[in-house]
Amino acid sequence: MVKLILAALAFLALHSAAVVLAKGAAMPASYVFLIAGPICATLACFWRSRHCSGIARGKWLLVAIGFAFWSAGMILSARVEIFLHAQQNFAFLGDFIYFSYGVPVLVALSVTTHDQNFRPILLLDAMQALLALVLAYFVLFNVLPFARSIAHPVPVPVLVHVYNIENVVLILAAIFPLLASPKGEEKAFYRILGGYCISYAIVVGVYNYATAYWHLNTGTLADVITDVPFLLLAVLAIGVEVGCSESPQFGANPVALFVNNASPILFTLAVLALGAYLTTKTLYLGLFVTCLALVTYCLRATILQSRYFSVQLALHEANGKLEELSLRDPLTGVANRRGFERALNLECERAERTGEPLSLLMLDIDYFKVLNDRNGHVHGDECLVGIATELENNLNRSSDTIARYGGEEFAVVLPKTDLEGAKRVAEKLRSAVLELFIPNETEMSDFVTISVGIAAYGCTPDGSINAFVDAADKALYAAKRNGRNRFEIAVSLGVNQPS
Ligand code: GH3
Ligand code: MG
Ligand code: MG
Repeated sequence: MVKLILAALAFLALHSAAVVLAKGAAMPASYVFLIAGPICATLACFWRSRHCSGIARGKWLLVAIGFAFWSAGMILSARVEIFLHAQQNFAFLGDFIYFSYGVPVLVALSVTTHDQNFRPILLLDAMQALLALVLAYFVLFNVLPFARSIAHPVPVPVLVHVYNIENVVLILAAIFPLLASPKGEEKAFYRILGGYCISYAIVVGVYNYATAYWHLNTGTLADVITDVPFLLLAVLAIGVEVGCSESPQFGANPVALFVNNASPILFTLAVLALGAYLTTKTLYLGLFVTCLALVTYCLRATILQSRYFSVQLALHEANGKLEELSLRDPLTGVANRRGFERALNLECERAERTGEPLSLLMLDIDYFKVLNDRNGHVHGDECLVGIATELENNLNRSSDTIARYGGEEFAVVLPKTDLEGAKRVAEKLRSAVLELFIPNETEMSDFVTISVGIAAYGCTPDGSINAFVDAADKALYAAKRNGRNRFEIAVSLGVNQPS
């Protein structure tokens, strides 16, 4: 950084020396430095764009293009003054190019991270930028399109106002996004550009007024101060460490969201302002441009709105899938404990409301530990999946819910099913598992079996399902005690048990 500052100071010293020592050739000598300053800024921005990634790269490149315009404008000025010996009392092509420098810079300042991967928005912004350029040309030279009229360029004092307005817009565009506390390279970008835009507006503003009102010619020491903003930018662009582009540009606080949405509107406002100015020259063209700005803005808003809704929809779907996943047991694919509790709560409420019966089965695989110890857990898992599928396939009503309650225990919720029906289902499930003939040699059987506990009408009016589950669980342990591979019915049923 120190070396860069010294180099910049040496540049200023050389420029001063050249103006003082060159005497008769002070003007061409000064132009060498006046052209070299923005070229340094161009190269520095280009250098930084090569060292950045993501959206920051494009932004620095756009700023570099802006400075390339500026350098070109300065070369044209030099040509007019040195070779054509013309006094610049009115806007000329070089002035248009100076003005144009602000357009890519404004695009760079107003494009946000959210837009970076969204072509239609970028395209619209580019269209607005082009429109602003064309309009600026009409305004600066007072020529009307298709009218074949002779250009009446605006006089230099008016031009100075135009430049000042442009500079203020650039300052606002650079400072405004800083309110949203950007991070990483975005922060560096807006800070460096903000510093540059302010120094440029002050220096060039003062210089332009001096040349316009006191007829100051190029080739005086006053030229040296116009190098300052360009050198400042070059020093900062190379000297400030390149930030990380991975971090998101803006936080999600309300100010950040507002800034993020408002920044791109600057262009629409610029086009609207130019359109409004044109109405004073030619009503229809001015109105056309104003309408065009509004249509572009509406299109932009509509595209953003559509994107917002499609993102909302995708989020909604993703949420649904997540919720569905959170209720499923990953191994067997049937409902998990949460899914079971949700289903039982729901059915309890419904049974309360309608007075219809509701039954609950608790199932446990017999001697499953033996199977696991003998064949390993992987085989045990495969058996669990097979048994869960078999249980599910043997439940005919779509309203029935099977869930893995935990380990090798399952629960089945049977809406609109009384005790007789629950007994039939329990027996069906018991024999279905046995008929899978999964080998598991124990004192009781050669194949895997299950024990089932049945509870019916177990809902309590306070909405708690605990007593219902407890009753089914007790019945299950009774089945275990009584020899396994059987079902038992809960002795003490819930409060809603019919007499
Ligand atoms: P009981 O007839 O009394 O129910 O005997 P059991 O061996 O089935 O019961 P116990 O509660 O003693 O053991 C349950 C076994 O189930 C323990 C473990 O080996 C097995 N188990 C529990 N969860 C899983 C699982 O997710 N995968 C596998 N492979 N085995 C499991
Ligand atoms: Mg168990
Ligand atoms: Mg068991």
